[in-house]
Parts: sequence; C-alpha cells; structure tokens
Amino acid sequence: MLARRLVAFALACALVFGTLFVPTDTIAASPPALSLPIPLGETWKVIQGYNCGTHTSYDDNAFDLVNTNGRTRGAPVRAAADGTYWWWGAAGGTVILSHGNGYYTMYSHLESHVPFRKGQAVAAGTVIGTVGSAGTSYSNPHLHFEMFYGEGVSARNRRGVPLAFVEGYNFPDNERCNEYMGVRLTAGAAPRDVQPPTTPTLLDPGQGRNQIVRWQAATDAETGVQGYQVYVGTDAQGTGDWFVAEPQVALPTLPAGHYFVRVRAIDNAGNASPWATLVEVNV
Ligand SMILES: [Zn+2]
Repeated sequence: MLARRLVAFALACALVFGTLFVPTDTIAASPPALSLPIPLGETWKVIQGYNCGTHTSYDDNAFDLVNTNGRTRGAPVRAAADGTYWWWGAAGGTVILSHGNGYYTMYSHLESHVPFRKGQAVAAGTVIGTVGSAGTSYSNPHLHFEMFYGEGVSARNRRGVPLAFVEGYNFPDNERCNEYMGVRLTAGAAPRDVQPPTTPTLLDPGQGRNQIVRWQAATDAETGVQGYQVYVGTDAQGTGDWFVAEPQVALPTLPAGHYFVRVRAIDNAGNASPWATLVEVNV
C-alpha cells in the first residue's frame, strides 16, 4: 500500500512538474524487523484487524490483541524492535517508539508505562509498559499495536505499514475489512520453516539399462529434507510428483527419445527447492 501510494505520488508529481520527481524523504529503507510485542511463550488473538472499525487512517494496519493464555490487563508490553522512545500520550495510554528511516511502532491503551526521556534508546524485547484500557470507549483491555511511516521530525503524512514478525508471521494488506481478525500469534515460538531446502546436484548419472541416477542429498537447516520429486520426460522444463525418499532414482524402461531427468527437494514443512535438470538421456 505504501509503495503503491509512493508510486501514485511520483506519477502525480510527474504530471504536475512534467518530470519524474521522487521525493527523497519518502524513499523508505526497509521497515525494521519486528518481534511480537507480547510476553514470550504466550498466544494472543487479534480481536480487530486491518481496515474498518477504529483501524482506518494511519492505523489501518493495526492489530488489537488480547491474551488467550491468561489476563490481558497488566500484561507486559515489549518493544517490537530496537529504537528510541519518541512519544507518550496519556489520554490513549500510547507509547510510540522511533526506529529510524521514518518508521515508528505504536502501543496504545497501556495502563502504565516505563518513564522515559524522548530519544532514550530502547532495545527490542524491553518491557515498555503494561496493557490496560486507557482511551478505549469500551471496557475490555487490549493492546493496540501498529507500525506507521511518517515524514520529518514530527512524522507528517503518516501511513500504516503492513505488519510482519520475525516469529514467522506475515500480514500483507489486501484492503479487506477487519483483515486477520481471529488470527492467533505466539511470541517466542520456534520460527516456522519458510526456507526451501538446497537444490539437488548430480552425484552419479549411472548408465545402461535401468540406469540409476544419484544426486547429492539436499539439506534443510530448519525441519530437514523429507524427499524428492522426480520428473523423467521429454520436456526440458518438465515437473512431476513422482516422490522418492532417497537421493536416487532407477529410470524406467523408456521408448526411443531424448529425456530429461529433473529433481527437486522437499523439506518437512513442504517447502520445495527449484527444479534441477540432473541428466539428459538418449534412448
Ligand atoms: Zn486498535
């Protein structure tokens, strides 16, 4: 959304000024990597998601969170990334941290906060306050959390930034009302396996009838490799779902032709490496 708006703004400038003017202070570096701002090991639930309700304007990519493991009121709130303290607003129980390059995280409805000076450094994971219901028009305590982007020292022209967390969660903004309502987030859980295993490389092409092709076993640092999908056919880019657990395959008897033996590795979380053509066979 942010990128789209920047492009739209640049195009609008191009129309007005007749040249492609890209405002330098809105060319954002990557947003900071965020950790969940909730207590380690606990699972919290989104009770209001993106867009709609009270999450419009620059808080359109905010989550309202409650604890599913225990009490919400009084639970510690943790800084989502390294940064500096930037703002405290008593009315809404709001702490805002600055993370540089125009990125800020905001924590609202806190019933208490750690006293700070503006500009004081804060490390990711530091407890910055406790959850309450300050500033809410209804009574149930919850943590309102968001990241926004703003320009200049007063963070003008704020806009929401879609959330992602190093625990392995990614929440792009698809412009849907109350998007991600009901999602559960666990802090400090083992990261989910999102990386593919390594791509197989040829070890031994084999030969003769019922040729056995062997490849270097793939590796996967997270959940390990469960096996390989194999394609044997005439298409240089062919794919298939013939599955073998070991890093080798005995070729079937083939009619005359030119064949490609292609393999990809699958890890235990279902991530796949790219397909690799290991050998070409003339029959
Ligand atoms: Zn909220």
